[in-house]
Amino acid sequence: MSERKIIIFDTTLRDGEQSPGASLNTEEKLVIAKQLEVLGVDVIEAGFAAASPGDLDAISKVAQEVKKPVIASLARAVKGDIEAAAKALENAERKRIHTFIATSPIHVEKKLKMSYDAVIDAAVDAVKLARNYAEDVEFSAEDATRSDWDYLCKIFEKVIDAGASTINVPDTVGYTTPQEYYDLIAYLMNNIPNIDKAVVSVHCHNDLGMAVANSLSAVLAGANQVECTINGLGERAGNAALEEISMALKTRADFYKGCKTGINTQEIYRASRLVSKLTGIRVQRNKAIVGKNAFAHEAGIHQDGVIKEKRTYEIMKPEDIGIDTNKLVLGKHSGKHGLEERLRELGYNLSKEQIGVIFEEFKKLADKKKEIYDEDLRALIEDQFKLTPQVYELVSLQVVAGNAASPTATMKLVKNGEEFEDAALGDGPVDATFKALERITYVKGKLMNYDIQALTEGKDAVGEVSVKVYFADLDKAILGRGTSTDVIEASAKAYLDAINKALMLM
Ligand SMILES: [Zn+2]
Repeated sequence: MSERKIIIFDTTLRDGEQSPGASLNTEEKLVIAKQLEVLGVDVIEAGFAAASPGDLDAISKVAQEVKKPVIASLARAVKGDIEAAAKALENAERKRIHTFIATSPIHVEKKLKMSYDAVIDAAVDAVKLARNYAEDVEFSAEDATRSDWDYLCKIFEKVIDAGASTINVPDTVGYTTPQEYYDLIAYLMNNIPNIDKAVVSVHCHNDLGMAVANSLSAVLAGANQVECTINGLGERAGNAALEEISMALKTRADFYKGCKTGINTQEIYRASRLVSKLTGIRVQRNKAIVGKNAFAHEAGIHQDGVIKEKRTYEIMKPEDIGIDTNKLVLGKHSGKHGLEERLRELGYNLSKEQIGVIFEEFKKLADKKKEIYDEDLRALIEDQFKLTPQVYELVSLQVVAGNAASPTATMKLVKNGEEFEDAALGDGPVDATFKALERITYVKGKLMNYDIQALTEGKDAVGEVSVKVYFADLDKAILGRGTSTDVIEASAKAYLDAINKALMLM
């Protein structure tokens, strides 16, 4: 059988970012886009340019700095949206305008309140206009899976004639099933006369837990592009997960004969972790491929089998997605050279000065905990080289708590070399710490969410705290993160991180 390249269209930065609570700033989007490039995705949908000036700016930054993949912007089938997309993509090496209009009766009649012919006209006009700005134009029939199949054939034929080179068949509301979707894609392949001039794309939502199954079923029916997101992030229950699609095609290459993606699967774990960290949306433990338990064998009979022969219970190797099985790395007596070596193996290209800084922090950590894992090193690096410039830095923190004392936090921060010190009482040690931070920085926030997780095993594990803080002055909720072996210190760093980000916007 001949080889088929399955185009991976990543929409983490657009559909993924639309998931509740996942908002990303431009810098964070850029960092994710660069990782998506390393991961080997073919198309990055960087945003919805007409949604806001911030969205437009983020797409334009990604277009400027990420050159290997095609960069796409979403646009409704209206002039203003397409012009905004074109503007955002001005500096892209390879650009795509992705325009859409709904085709299902409920959307056409109740939402758009247009005639079916008018919808086709709007789609054709949009594609033609988009072609003035980009060679590569994708058209989506929103809510395709609840649309009339012959009407879909008609609109797709017209937009292909108008110059669309990709036609997308979204299961916008996560309603279809694998067999039904297979039949729909096959029907389109057989009944659109000019279908050979376009790539058929699929975009599935996970409302019934079938997004990945539906996408793969469509691939069997002839779809050559799959739209997906890292960690399956997305509106409501999310989109098809990129890691599941690409690992299914790889692991079951015997079944999906000839289907290949350009994904470098060893970058999957890093991408998953980055997206989870920057959006603050944790990956569930039993999530396929990237969950913490995905490669853990608990039952004695399984452990016994895996020790004798890995393949007894393992269909994939953790190394395939970039998890280092060689987990225990360094200890108190490890030297700078060993650390440097390990950092390189983990994929960090740091300067001499940066390695120096990390080595100092590493020694401090090694005093507190015996064994330093890869996760600890990653946390150190992410903690040290923040994506946002730090206005205030934590110098020292002292907290008194217990069942017989009023919780009190005393802390010292430094700003431009000048030290500030204050203390506060609170309902608990964390509350006292946050209050002291607010007293020193004069920034008041409202804690919306507080989340703590142990990054590694054992009582001396590094804890990672993430907070979501609402700042009334900005009318904006901002995410902050911090790590430490001390949970109160991690909490202080997380809250201060949010305050620093807020200060940059004030
Ligand atoms: Zn979607």
